[in-house]
Amino acid sequence: MAIVVVVGAIGLATRGSDAPAAKATADPVIPTVTAAAVDLATQLGPRDQELVSIGAKGVSIHRAGGRRKVVALTFDDGPAKDTPAILSILKQYDVPATFFVVGQAVKEYPGMVAQEIAQGHQIGVHTWSHPDLTKLPAAKQQQEIVDTQNAIISDSGVASRLFRAPYGAVDPSVIATAEKNKLLSVLWEGDTNDWQRPDVNTIVQRVVSEVTPGSIILMHDGGGDRANTVAALPTIIKELKKQGYGFATVGDLVVSDPPGPSDMSVDGKGVSE
Ligand SMILES: [Zn+2]
Repeated sequence: MAIVVVVGAIGLATRGSDAPAAKATADPVIPTVTAAAVDLATQLGPRDQELVSIGAKGVSIHRAGGRRKVVALTFDDGPAKDTPAILSILKQYDVPATFFVVGQAVKEYPGMVAQEIAQGHQIGVHTWSHPDLTKLPAAKQQQEIVDTQNAIISDSGVASRLFRAPYGAVDPSVIATAEKNKLLSVLWEGDTNDWQRPDVNTIVQRVVSEVTPGSIILMHDGGGDRANTVAALPTIIKELKKQGYGFATVGDLVVSDPPGPSDMSVDGKGVSE
């Protein structure tokens, strides 16, 4: 099933005439969303339609509304060598998560995004090469996002509906580019700073002490050695469960507990750290 979709995507991608004429002829260097990807987008389920409509407000969300004692664990910068260990722990504890993937890493670790989706996780676009998008012109922002979306579709047959800017660096232009691609811009509220490789207990304590109902928690499965994140994850899950928290993908969390005005912003302001 997925393979059929992928073949279709590639076939259509090479036929430029299938893309909307105005955009395709404006700049042939910049890939546009393929007709197949648009087809997938039009087959959005209710959850994805809701995400797209929140993203259409020109905002980034930092957290869900906080009405339910549920949080979303998110992992950035993969796929990478530590991703299988993280997937294995999530499976062991039956916890869904969200992976914001880097396009070039998706190519480097074929089949990993497909495995993440097969395990019930959600995928977000984290750009192709992890630049600060606020320093790039809109056309380059578009290319970073579309190339990554295409890599995700090629690997899994599923289009992403979420976007996270590298470094959390967003401005209205970046959010508008995400919106144009039917992606909801997602930042975070709980930051483990695990990319600085603090010790295991520090990572655990940062999550456990900062978490609130509706938190979107930032961790990393790629971008360097994540042994401490892997080691911290089981304790984080067990501690949060002990406190009565449940877990959901960002999409499920946001749709079941919609963010209010104070949970979103147009410029990333309000994100802790
Ligand atoms: Zn990142």
